[in-house]
Amino acid sequence: MANRSHGVDNENLISNLKTNGKFKSSRVEAALRATDRGDFSRIYPYKDSPQSIGFGVNISAPHMHAHMLELLADNLTRGTKALDIGSGSGYLTVCMALMVGETGKVVGIDHIPELVDMSIRNVKKKHATLLETGRVKLVGLGDGRKGYEADGPYDAIHVGAATPQIPPALVSQLKPGGRMILPVGPPSGNQELMQVDKLSNGEIRKTSLFGVVFASLTDPDTQWPRRTPR
Ligand code: SAH
Repeated sequence: MANRSHGVDNENLISNLKTNGKFKSSRVEAALRATDRGDFSRIYPYKDSPQSIGFGVNISAPHMHAHMLELLADNLTRGTKALDIGSGSGYLTVCMALMVGETGKVVGIDHIPELVDMSIRNVKKKHATLLETGRVKLVGLGDGRKGYEADGPYDAIHVGAATPQIPPALVSQLKPGGRMILPVGPPSGNQELMQVDKLSNGEIRKTSLFGVVFASLTDPDTQWPRRTPR
């Protein structure tokens, strides 16, 4: 997917993504316009490319975030519940929360405590009420491969890092009618973005969308080895 949507500010970036057909839904557009990427990435926030957020990982590229929201848009409607696994900067968690409205809820989980703290600081810059009202919950120290059963089942699950196979725990935490989007494949190569739909009769339908390159869902010490053991 070509990255030709660079902007000088958030409005300009989103307008360019729209012109380049990276999303269609007006609800996705509203969420993207209301979430300033500059609050979530210190480095080139309005470039249409992934940027480092430290700890060996990146905030995904804007066109990828837009694509994820578009794929999940029908499951991120008023009052729905969603899970954002590998929430990193917190950017997509906020976009999802804006789409589910005041009666919805989005849980973001990440396994690096410093990233969770950073994401909370990022959200507080312009969207503190999301945390105060519990519409956004950011959970640390969880293993995303196990999902987050406590708040499930979910209408939508987004996974921001790749796994070799689709984790069964995540499929079981989808509601009937729910949809999960996740990159599947080995570390650094040959990954595909998969759409997993749980139909109303419980049947699972898997669709391969396109090739992607994501960091992997892994263990904290593999992702970011520390000099002093915890
Ligand atoms: N979606 C985020 C970050 C994507 S990078 C954004 O766009 O800002 C992938 C994220 O997955 C990183 O934040 C990393 O810390 C997290 N991660 C990797 N393995 C994990 C695991 N087993 N459980 C939870 N989070 C994990």
